[in-house]
Amino acid sequence: MWLQMDVSSNMSNILLVGYGISGVSVFNFLKSKGNNVLVYDDYKNDDIPNKVNNIDWNNIDYVVKSPSIHIMYHNIHPIIQEAINNNKTIYSTFDIFRLYNPNAKIIGITGTNGKSTTTSLVYSILKKAGLSVQIGGNIGIPYGDLELSEYYVFEMSSYEISSSKLLQFDIGALLNIEPDHLDWHGSFENYIESKQKLLDNSKIKIISYEDEYSVNKYKDTSVTISINNESKASYYIKERLLMQNNNIILDLSNVKYLLGTHNYQNIMFAYAICKSLNVDDNVIINTINNFEPLPHRINIVRKIDNILFVNDSKGTNPGSSARALDTFMGYKIFWLVGGRSKKINPLPYINKYLDSIHKIYLFGESTQEFSQVFKNTKECVVFKTMDEALRKAYEDAINEPGASVVLLSPMCASFDQFQGFEHRGNIFVELVKSL
Ligand code: ADP
Repeated sequence: MWLQMDVSSNMSNILLVGYGISGVSVFNFLKSKGNNVLVYDDYKNDDIPNKVNNIDWNNIDYVVKSPSIHIMYHNIHPIIQEAINNNKTIYSTFDIFRLYNPNAKIIGITGTNGKSTTTSLVYSILKKAGLSVQIGGNIGIPYGDLELSEYYVFEMSSYEISSSKLLQFDIGALLNIEPDHLDWHGSFENYIESKQKLLDNSKIKIISYEDEYSVNKYKDTSVTISINNESKASYYIKERLLMQNNNIILDLSNVKYLLGTHNYQNIMFAYAICKSLNVDDNVIINTINNFEPLPHRINIVRKIDNILFVNDSKGTNPGSSARALDTFMGYKIFWLVGGRSKKINPLPYINKYLDSIHKIYLFGESTQEFSQVFKNTKECVVFKTMDEALRKAYEDAINEPGASVVLLSPMCASFDQFQGFEHRGNIFVELVKSL
């Protein structure tokens, strides 16, 4: 538990909205500090302690909201609206961490894609370098359960950023911006704004030279990363070499497990972050070369004859699935797509991979939408379940000569048929193993 505390030690009456994993963690933490915490949750559940349905706002000092509770005006949660009407301050779970831990050195990492990979890579490097460090935010341990540490590496979701009032980072990294989570934010502009709010509150800012939304605004005040050969950037790629001022920093052909050029971006950000903390080059490079990707992100599950089976269940939007397609350009791709749609037209993202895509196997809630989208572009077949789609893709792939990939990179959320992307990916892995 955190030991530093500079918030007033007075006991407060707090209303916590949302009692999921983060909610439970922050509830226990606030209670352990002597606060009186009431809980509001939409789902009736007798196991919830101190549950309230009717709130006496006169007896609430402030509100803490769980990350997924809506606060944007177009879709605001009614209890949050009531709190605003009653002039209550609404804190995020990150804010609670900050309130009780004002001296922590925090590295915040955000972006549409690559957050978890980059966050865990930075954490691994700092740990190998012998620093006292914890990993958290959208990944790993919830805020309320983190141990005291000198450094914290946090994956920051756009929800948490836009809900936070006490953002303050020693280093802030914005990897990339592509449309995602637009239902939550209401517009792409709001989404961009939430991502950039992290940079606005960071002492050292690191941005992508290819991020047109941030480059004009922050170029002169940031460390810049270019995955293209843009030598004006602080770090750039020339062929497969990571360069700085014409000097070779690291040879990406030595990276063993992080597949795909999109991972170059994650590697470069991790490098830049760790360099800002003066970590030794050998430690950084060794850790990068041997870092194994997190599950469900372009993982090769099995090879049967000339067919690779790849689990990219975390490919939940067209931008991220495009990276999986890019990784297997030149293969015949039998592509499994579907789930709860993000309502983003995928064609601009995947057009350049159409030659590699052999056939598309649709499943889940979005089959009609994607049948329409792909109707004049690629052959699509429709299935109810991922299981059926996989079996047919395998059957088709067996009959094709040359190197093939049966790729689950669904461009969709999983909640129509699964409990989450991990659940979907685990079932895919089991099914592939049983083939
Ligand atoms: P996030 O936590 O932001 O969702 P992950 O590291 O979990 O990102 O990666 C999710 C998926 O996004 C990966 O499977 C890959 O397809 C894609 N991806 C990873 N890094 C990048 C990147 N830098 N740019 C674009 N796509 C990426």
